[in-house]
Amino acid sequence: IRWNREQGWHDAEVGPYSTLALDPAAMVLHYGQAIFEGLKAYRQPDGSIASFRPEANAERFRASARRMAMPELPDELFLESVRQLLAVDSRWVPAAEEESLYLRPFMISTEKGLGVRPASEYLYVLIASPAGSYFASGVRPVSVWLSTEYVRAAPGGTGAAKFAGNYAASLVAQAQAAEKGCDQVVWLDAVERRWVEEMGGMNLFFVYGDKVVTPELTGTLLPGITRSSLLELASELGLTVEERRVSTDEWEKANASGELTEVFACGTAAVITPVGHVKHAGGEFDIADGGTGSVTSKLRERLTGLQHGHVADTHGWMTTLHP
Ligand code: PMP
Repeated sequence: IRWNREQGWHDAEVGPYSTLALDPAAMVLHYGQAIFEGLKAYRQPDGSIASFRPEANAERFRASARRMAMPELPDELFLESVRQLLAVDSRWVPAAEEESLYLRPFMISTEKGLGVRPASEYLYVLIASPAGSYFASGVRPVSVWLSTEYVRAAPGGTGAAKFAGNYAASLVAQAQAAEKGCDQVVWLDAVERRWVEEMGGMNLFFVYGDKVVTPELTGTLLPGITRSSLLELASELGLTVEERRVSTDEWEKANASGELTEVFACGTAAVITPVGHVKHAGGEFDIADGGTGSVTSKLRERLTGLQHGHVADTHGWMTTLHP
């Protein structure tokens, strides 16, 4: 679907997967107006295809657009693009129990121009790809590197938007984490470098027995849809939930005293992934016994059960997008 100032959203089309032609002066290539979303479609037991809270992705896509001075795609067009893509991909059969169809909507500025200003022409595209487990090893605890050298987002910046540049800015830290033998980076706040924010493509939860704590939305982390859903599921499962700041100091001390029982990360792609080991410039430690905790497993089972249609959808979170 294209957008320009005169016509608004126009020329929607569904076509075979192919390359995009862009002018070398297309503004996205120079000034980076590029946003995206990530959601999944799941084959349901009755054969229909449904997605988990796609309306929330549509809304976050509009919020990202506003932050990047881009036009907002109406939610109905966003959802209709998913329906139309699923209609042509409707013969897709999950190859394994947990396989889903990962959907990647994105928007870029296409106007030719060499001056820095919001473009007046944009292109919205949706592509899809079958997706299995995010980590090749399946659900095994990951190790994380606490980055104090690099930050992902600063106050007033673009951290709460699903903006392509945020991910580009994280690549060197991700490489550094790999050098340290870790799977993922944990981002800390830009100002004091001690408040835990989030991971690469995931939000973080800390489990203290029957209490779960997740960093509050300060404007510098992505408001994850999995995060907000787990806050509700956790309280339904009888857990106490808290959204507040968590420092690296608290993390290490509560772990050493045994108060902290589990840590996990969550997101659309990674679902729920336990964190087993932490490394930082001053040392390293295992979280509890370094394995997958019971709260992590219970929440994962509930969430995946809902998404794959094995648990009753009492929240109305599943939206059928192909009959
Ligand atoms: N943080 C970041 C930086 C992400 O890219 C993602 C994935 N969209 C998340 C958190 C988790 O968000 P969600 O649960 O909506 O997938």
